[in-house]
Amino acid sequence: MFDELKSRPADSLLALIKAFQADDRPGKIDLGVGVYRDSMGRTPVMRAVKAAEQFLLETQDSKKYLGPEGDLQFVRLLQPIIFGKSPTFAQRLVGIQTPGGSGALRLGAELIQAANPSARLLLGTPSWPNHAPIFSSARLPVKEYAFVDLMSQQVKFESVVACLSSAREGDVVLLHGCCHNPTGIDFTMEQWRQITEILVAHRLVPFIDLAYQGLGDGLEQDAAPTRMILEAVDEALIAYSCDKNFGLYRERVGALYVMTRNEDALRKAESNIAALARVNWSMPPDHGAAVVRSILESEEMSAMWRAELEEICLRVNGNRAALAAAALDLTFIRRQRGLFSNLSMSKETAAALRARHGIYMADSGRMNLAGMQPADADAIVAALRAEGC
Ligand code: PMP
Repeated sequence: MFDELKSRPADSLLALIKAFQADDRPGKIDLGVGVYRDSMGRTPVMRAVKAAEQFLLETQDSKKYLGPEGDLQFVRLLQPIIFGKSPTFAQRLVGIQTPGGSGALRLGAELIQAANPSARLLLGTPSWPNHAPIFSSARLPVKEYAFVDLMSQQVKFESVVACLSSAREGDVVLLHGCCHNPTGIDFTMEQWRQITEILVAHRLVPFIDLAYQGLGDGLEQDAAPTRMILEAVDEALIAYSCDKNFGLYRERVGALYVMTRNEDALRKAESNIAALARVNWSMPPDHGAAVVRSILESEEMSAMWRAELEEICLRVNGNRAALAAAALDLTFIRRQRGLFSNLSMSKETAAALRARHGIYMADSGRMNLAGMQPADADAIVAALRAEGC
């Protein structure tokens, strides 16, 4: 039967990593990967994570099953960080641990499909390339609209408003809570306010993907749009990832939160997400969530984590400033947030940047600002100029 399969294209970013490794030019720069890099080019295990792992090694006395909900103390301890200390909607929230933000998106997609089979997912493009496939494989029709104009690096706010305003009641709107991937372009607070009004007026359900909290302007500020929306709407979903802000990528640490209108719906949503988790992965992997829980249970380790996260933020924003200072027409990079910016270029140009200059970025023109040093800014700008960008 496998002869009948159609081959699928390999992940182009993985090919990019291999090509970078095979390049022996000393000045090569890797802006392709999707993870944080420190000033030595490493993706280190955070000090707080090491401390929590040490603590777990010494104190963990069982690895028995936890159940489809995973580590509920982990789910609870994240809540004040994401939603604030005592939000008015706290009683209408239920959460479950998931394998990464990806698992949360998938579970949320299946919950929506179960609750409202005629709901569609509205997705602003460009977006994380896995968004559309995750939702369509859960049988949710995906309706795309243009979110950003890469030439001008501006939000196409009229297109956003037009798409959301013409949506059907009960449609779901995927929103990047902060640090948009791939563009680094987030809505202004005024734009978020207008979006919130439209969500309420048209009875749309926000699905907020929060995969980079703390990598933009800090934990509190990065959560501000999410909190504002949740104060206003009746129902929402939040896919959270700890894989970037705790540097736990391969441990697959995430959570799905669902906000319902009332207690009865909350209990129904709770039993449904547990049942859906059970058929998907039975139970999520424990280690990463146990690490995060241990950090959040300890004042000392929490302080260490917050300090490290600030260092990460400073380094990325420092690289943004360096690139912006190196070229007048790149000043937009300083205003953007998170790991990524997406330059407007053809894939031939991206290939020429690799071949002629040893500068690696995705064919889409997405670059990871954590892959460079401030001192690389001039070389990057010179290469862009040489290739007519
Ligand atoms: N959402 C966005 C916007 C992402 O960029 C990513 C990861 N690159 C995810 C979700 C998934 O995160 P995780 O690795 O925790 O599954």
